[in-house]
Amino acid sequence: MKALVWTDKNAVEIHERDIPEYKNKVLIKVAYAGICGSDVSVFMGKHPRARTPLVMGHEFTGTVEAIGDGVETPLNVGDHVVVNPLYYCGRCRACLSGNAHVCRSLRLYGTDTDGGMAEYTAIPEKNILKLPSELPLKIATLIEPVAVVIHGFRMIRKQFYGSAAVIGLGPMGLLSALMLKDAGVSHLYCIETNSERAERARSLGLEVIDPVACDSVEYIRNKTDGEGVDILVEASGSAAAAKSMTAIAGVRAEILLLSVFKDAASIDLRTVNFAEQTIIGSRVYTAVDFKDAIDYVKNNTEKLMHVISHVRPLSDAQKTFDEIVSGKTNTMKVLLEINPKL
Ligand SMILES: [Zn+2]
Ligand SMILES: [Zn+2]
Repeated sequence: MKALVWTDKNAVEIHERDIPEYKNKVLIKVAYAGICGSDVSVFMGKHPRARTPLVMGHEFTGTVEAIGDGVETPLNVGDHVVVNPLYYCGRCRACLSGNAHVCRSLRLYGTDTDGGMAEYTAIPEKNILKLPSELPLKIATLIEPVAVVIHGFRMIRKQFYGSAAVIGLGPMGLLSALMLKDAGVSHLYCIETNSERAERARSLGLEVIDPVACDSVEYIRNKTDGEGVDILVEASGSAAAAKSMTAIAGVRAEILLLSVFKDAASIDLRTVNFAEQTIIGSRVYTAVDFKDAIDYVKNNTEKLMHVISHVRPLSDAQKTFDEIVSGKTNTMKVLLEINPKL
């Protein structure tokens, strides 16, 4: 089989490998694998845990090719499936208290061990969820990032009927903005510097502010009678966003940190005091968030399709990663098409 292997800083190669051993596991024929921001940091050699050689990919879908000896499962060969890529120790305090998604030694298929950017991958049965047959495997690759947003939103205690803002309209920010609209926010302000990303969002009916052309703090303050927004989703990971988020958020606002900051960022904590704001940390998703993301994607296929900007063959993977890293191509969610016939 063909496997895309991360071999060195900024280098991936297609290797011919044996189909993985699948005793006590389920063998999946992979259809599509999404490229996540964390795959890009692996590719660039910046991920703290990833080691070469590695088959990346934790956002993938496919069909059940074979069920290994010793596996009891309701799955059948040919079923459409998605993989929850998280695995955990089961012994630490987080795991014991039912919060395995923040396990002290949380691991992912595609980051810590081989994942989905190969024609076949072998995964334990408990990590595999059956997809409704009417849900196309291409759009179903968004289940994992949608689960991240669902998890973040479930951490917000405020009602969604007030105003909201999203900083950063990459795939996570765009998903958040679309899902906040669904959740019933009264006004939604999005902030994005990349003009093509902004245009994509505008074409979906979102209001987008370019913080370079206009002072986004002042703009949102003016539009909200000086109050600021009730809910703010930080999806850019940029230091400038960290500085402005407490000023955009209003009194008793909740600020959800959806993206991971590349470096320690500075925040004006005085506003957090004086306005009694809450900053919410959020990491991946629980098993229930992941399960519910399947239904969300199924029920919103047409809208979510706009989050996928490119579908590339596995043979173009090096070029595709290079383009994403260079920032020259306007990419939103990019998928690798691995077994195009599925
Ligand atoms: Zn991801
Ligand atoms: Zn644990």
